[in-house]
Amino acid sequence: MRAYTYYGSGDLRLADKPRPEIKEPGDAIVRVTLASICTSDLHIKHGSVPRAVPGVTIGHEMVGVVEAVGSGVAKVKPGERVAVNVETYCGECFFCKNGWVNNCTDPDGGWALGCRIDGGLAEYVRVPHADTGLSVIPEGVTDEQALFTGDILATGYWAAKISEIGPGDTVLIIGGGPTGYCTLECVLLKKPARVIVCDRHPERLELVRAHHPEVLTTGPEGLREYTLAHTEHGGADRVIECGGSDESFQLAWQCARPNAIVTVVALYDRAQSLPLPDMYGKNLTFKTGGVDGCDCGEILRLIAAGKIDTTPLITHRYPLSNIERAFEVFEHRRDGVIKTAVDCAR
Ligand SMILES: [Zn+2]
Ligand SMILES: [Zn+2]
Repeated sequence: MRAYTYYGSGDLRLADKPRPEIKEPGDAIVRVTLASICTSDLHIKHGSVPRAVPGVTIGHEMVGVVEAVGSGVAKVKPGERVAVNVETYCGECFFCKNGWVNNCTDPDGGWALGCRIDGGLAEYVRVPHADTGLSVIPEGVTDEQALFTGDILATGYWAAKISEIGPGDTVLIIGGGPTGYCTLECVLLKKPARVIVCDRHPERLELVRAHHPEVLTTGPEGLREYTLAHTEHGGADRVIECGGSDESFQLAWQCARPNAIVTVVALYDRAQSLPLPDMYGKNLTFKTGGVDGCDCGEILRLIAAGKIDTTPLITHRYPLSNIERAFEVFEHRRDGVIKTAVDCAR
């Protein structure tokens, strides 16, 4: 089968590999119908993910059809359409039992797919811990609707959840890219009084306005003043930082009102500093970290109910045979691309 494979820094190729087989009782084999490319895949490509194993098939955003399951799998069966969770987790360790599946201590726990074990930019993928890592796609939900469930949508859902958003709140989302947009979809479910999305790319703000005209949009210049002008208590009640730059990190705490919650979702390529003397008396609560993808079933129910729609993010579609072009366009942000959908059968 064809599998897009990482061989070392800067070296990704569509390789011919044997179809994966069941190795452990908890495994499932999924025929990938649709996959996507994530910024993390670019980080692997450029050698900035040391955990990535040369020879590994990349790809961790995908949906497909279960082909086979191991003897220990109880929740999914062959023939079912499933969304694959970016995190594989055992469901039994201390962290899993507390719902912190990102910190699962199993050797295959956390983000392993498409990094430490073969991922889904391929015709087939082996998913360990299939009972926790796969969620059945409800009838009537298309592959494109379900595509982001296990990764960026799980991230947005988790970010909105831990931000403890109340009905009177103004929520500022910094970074309106794919993760920011997914976060917005999930923040709106909490029915805050007001949402502001900040991004420096006008086409991203346009997409937000086109689908959510009630949301305020602005660029990063003068964001502090803009936020002050649209809030009553000296800043946003909740700030969710999806931007990932030095500037966006500083804006996140600067735009927060005293006693606000600042949730940092972004991944930075270098250390950030908290200027504590400048923040003294602001009494902020920071929440940080990677996605805790344990709500995929609920996310799919919300998609089925028409309450979450991330299909506007899909701007480009490619067959797996043309994956190199898909990467090229995504990496260099050509042609207004936001997210690509890769048809792994073609
Ligand atoms: Zn990702
Ligand atoms: Zn675990």
